[in-house]
Amino acid sequence: MFPVQLMQSNRYVLPRLALIGDAAHCCHPVGGQGLNMGIRDAAALAQVLQEAHNQGEDIGDLQILKRYESWRKQENLAILGFTDLLDRIFSNDWLPIVVIRRIGLLMLQKVKPVKTYALQLMTGLKGRTPEIAQRF
Ligand SMILES: Cc1cc2nc3c(=O)[nH]c(=O)nc-3n(C[C@H](O)[C@H](O)[C@H](O)COP(=O)(O)OP(=O)(O)OC[C@H]3O[C@@H](n4cnc5c(N)ncnc54)[C@H](O)[C@@H]3O)c2cc1C
Repeated sequence: MFPVQLMQSNRYVLPRLALIGDAAHCCHPVGGQGLNMGIRDAAALAQVLQEAHNQGEDIGDLQILKRYESWRKQENLAILGFTDLLDRIFSNDWLPIVVIRRIGLLMLQKVKPVKTYALQLMTGLKGRTPEIAQRF
C-alpha cells in the first residue's frame, strides 16, 4: 500500500525499462486524473517506440526512452501539482482558505478563460497530445 498523495519517480526510464501510470506517479483522487495520465503515458510511449522502430533505432536504448520521459514527466508534473493544490485547499477549514476556495470555484464557474484552461489541463488538451489520442 502507498498513500494517495503527490509522488513522482525521479526517473521514468532506464535502459530497456519504462515506467507508466501509477508506477511513475501518483496523486490524490480528488481531481480524477490518475488513470487519464496513465493512458496518456501509454499512448506517448507507444508513439515514441513506433517512431524509433520506423527509423530502425533500438527501442530499448536509453536515449530513445528519454524522449518519452522528457515528454511526459513535465506534463504530468503540472497536473500532479494542480491536483495536490486542490487536495490541500479542499482539506483545509481555515477561513482565508475557505474564502479563496469559494472565489476559485466561482471563477471556474463564471470566468470562461479560467474554465477553459482548467478543462484543457485536466482533459490532456494542454501540451503535446499523443497522435493515437487525437484520433478519438
Ligand atoms: C479512490 C480512487 C479514486 C480514483 N478515481 C479516479 C478517477 O475518477 N479518474 C482517474 O483518472 N483516476 C482515478 N484514480 C486513479 C486510478 O485508479 C489510477 O491512477 C490507475 O488505476 C492507475 O493504473 P495503473 O495501471 O498504473 O496501476 P494499477 O491500477 O494500480 O494497476 C497495477 C496492477 O498491477 C498489479 N500488480 C502489482 N504488483 C504486481 C506484481 N508484483 N506482479 C503482478 N501484478 C502486480 C496490481 O494488482 C494491479 O492490478 C482513482 C484512484 C483512487 C484510489
